[in-house]
Amino acid sequence: MENKYYLILDIGGTKTTGAVFTEEGSPVKDVFLTAPSVTYEGKDAVFRNTVEVGRRTLEQAGVDPAAIIGVGAAAPGPLDYRTGYIIDVPMMGWKDFPLGDLLQQEFGAPVRVDNDGNLGALAEQRVGVAKGENSVLYMTVSTGCGGGIVLGGRIYRGRSGGAGEFGHMSIDYNGIPCPCGSRGCLELYASGTAMNRRMRSDCEKKIPSSLFAGTGYDPDRINGALLGKAAKENDAYALEFFRQEGRYLGAGLANLFNLFDPDVIVLGGGVTKSAEFFKEEMLAEVNRRSCLPVARERIRFSELNDRVTLYGAYFLINDYLQEEGGAGRERKE
Ligand SMILES: [Zn+2]
Repeated sequence: MENKYYLILDIGGTKTTGAVFTEEGSPVKDVFLTAPSVTYEGKDAVFRNTVEVGRRTLEQAGVDPAAIIGVGAAAPGPLDYRTGYIIDVPMMGWKDFPLGDLLQQEFGAPVRVDNDGNLGALAEQRVGVAKGENSVLYMTVSTGCGGGIVLGGRIYRGRSGGAGEFGHMSIDYNGIPCPCGSRGCLELYASGTAMNRRMRSDCEKKIPSSLFAGTGYDPDRINGALLGKAAKENDAYALEFFRQEGRYLGAGLANLFNLFDPDVIVLGGGVTKSAEFFKEEMLAEVNRRSCLPVARERIRFSELNDRVTLYGAYFLINDYLQEEGGAGRERKE
């Protein structure tokens, strides 16, 4: 019998990545093809670009498109995971956009679509640092803060698919207003975007730091990489900045431990690359605020890095086809 494969796509705000996975869950030839997402160029351009990434990925992996039995995709939300409809994502130009149906037409195979938070949780629970644990939460800290919940090995989505919005837990009742309608949402304090905003504001205030001095106090030149470098050089401002980041994240994580008492919470995303500078303060803050003590080993850092979402999308489509049984495996031409 011929080999069968899954096409896996991670459609992000800045880049789109493709991979081909075997039925058993290994990436073929270690091909992870990445291209810019051409956001703000209109709904069709963004979609054609996505398809192009898929086609080139198959080519590089040397896999015949006819051997694809399913497509797993990560896309920005809000989206309907049952239909693969994107509800409204302005940067993609996708409003009530039938992404799942269109991908199915292009690749002739069943499609499942979900957000990176849910897929991250699934990947970490299946093959990541929380492998085999029963209850796993995943929180990504990058441009924003996303999340996902896996209970008993399954994604917990809630009634409308909106569960796991960890970035919109309020950690300050009267805090900064958020586009979601609430105030003081975690991502307004702890995300990479929030960190940049705070650093630039401190730079304008001429707060003494080698981080700012190195740029001639030019707020436009401040970024996370320079902050990490300053912390490595023991700059007092940078070290305290990261401790504050740890306290913000710790406040959010304490809420999650109080609500779910999960086996493990996994943190991923670009900001966690600097975890060495904030993890102690974060754990301390969790334990200052949580009702029950939280042991160090219950907070882990993703080791799947950029591939976490791709692995999650593989498990998403694989689970779906396994559950649909033989019928779900038929190619639809
Ligand atoms: Zn919010």
